[in-house]
Amino acid sequence: MDFARRDVLLGSAALLLAPGGTAGAASARPLGYAIVGLGGYGLGVIIPQFAHCTHSKLVAVVSGDRSKAERVAAEHGLGSGAIYSYADFDRIRDNPAIDIVYVCLPNAMHAEFTIRAARAGKHVLCEKPMAVSVAECEAMIAACRAADRKLMIGYRCHFEAYNLEAMRLARSGAAGKVRYVRSEHGFIQRDPAKWRLRRAMSGGGSLMDMGIYSLQAARYMTGEEPVAVTARESTDRSDPRFREVEDILDWTLEFPSGAIASCQSMYSANQNHVLLMGDRGRIELEPATRYDGNHMWVGADGRETAVTPPPGPRSTQFAGQLDHMSECAATGRQPIVSGEEGLRDMRIVAAIYRSAREGRTIRL
Ligand code: NDP
Repeated sequence: MDFARRDVLLGSAALLLAPGGTAGAASARPLGYAIVGLGGYGLGVIIPQFAHCTHSKLVAVVSGDRSKAERVAAEHGLGSGAIYSYADFDRIRDNPAIDIVYVCLPNAMHAEFTIRAARAGKHVLCEKPMAVSVAECEAMIAACRAADRKLMIGYRCHFEAYNLEAMRLARSGAAGKVRYVRSEHGFIQRDPAKWRLRRAMSGGGSLMDMGIYSLQAARYMTGEEPVAVTARESTDRSDPRFREVEDILDWTLEFPSGAIASCQSMYSANQNHVLLMGDRGRIELEPATRYDGNHMWVGADGRETAVTPPPGPRSTQFAGQLDHMSECAATGRQPIVSGEEGLRDMRIVAAIYRSAREGRTIRL
């Protein structure tokens, strides 16, 4: 992503968060979402967020667990006609109340349900990572394009006040010329049976999960696209959790300006940190990309001060994300984190894995 394009994107995200932003003009009625996958994120995090939305509402749920779906539907005033299974999902075509499908499934199911949703005539918000391969990402983009539907990836940090302010400060030269970014994200995976540790469902280990945040931060903090990657994996394969997927991935990205990013993802330690170093100072976030409680410091030479970003009209990053997708679906605008943005990441992810496997730098 070049600087000019990134500035346009930053501008639109800022507008969205600014008091009196454009979202108000989006649609006379809130757009209807179907949440696919009632798990930790879809049910535990996203569904409660509709209470904070202006342009979005929950109208349907899709689940493999009928009794859970009935309970959730009842709690949100939805009738039995608003409940779908994975098998009968394509019937959403006949439900005009559903404008947008939000795919909150294990990674290996993202492509199938995005493509089926587009073929049913619905816009799609799909969780990260976009899919488990570059080819799947391309097929998802093609399906949404063929159906003339919008595709957005659940990169919530583009709606999170601290990350938006950090991007703005970086771009305004608050730290001077960017020299390097460090970004580390991880959490401790405890249950070897989890789908995240099964390659067929996850597509990979910590890189496919928390590593996406490190990669995204390297790109949106520098405002540049990497030209080369060098990666190294460190995994204890005798640990039952890591028989199929990696634990630690460590990679360096080289950018056209000469800046570098040193990134990590891990499943055996908790870490959530982004640091940008410029030739005149630093911008640091820790925690950087959590649901809430993020912090930021800006300054130089040990005199950094805590910075609190200005509040936006959406009380949470999730509501900002949901309403942005509704606005795009209603107005025909391209989402600021489109399918193409997810595809860019997946191409780099493929190069990171290849570099670690082959033990050499990969040019992008
Ligand atoms: P969970 O395991 O908590 O939930 C996944 C849900 O998917 C299940 O509850 C189930 O819903 C459904 N599902 C369908 N088939 C399967 C299967 N074979 N195995 C397991 N689950 C299945 O995962 P998360 O909610 O944490 O993650 C879902 C997606 O959201 C992932 O892509 C993840 O990367 C992303 N995510 C994004 C976050 C962010 O901050 N942007 C944070 C957390 C996750 P049901 O019972 O209704 O059928």
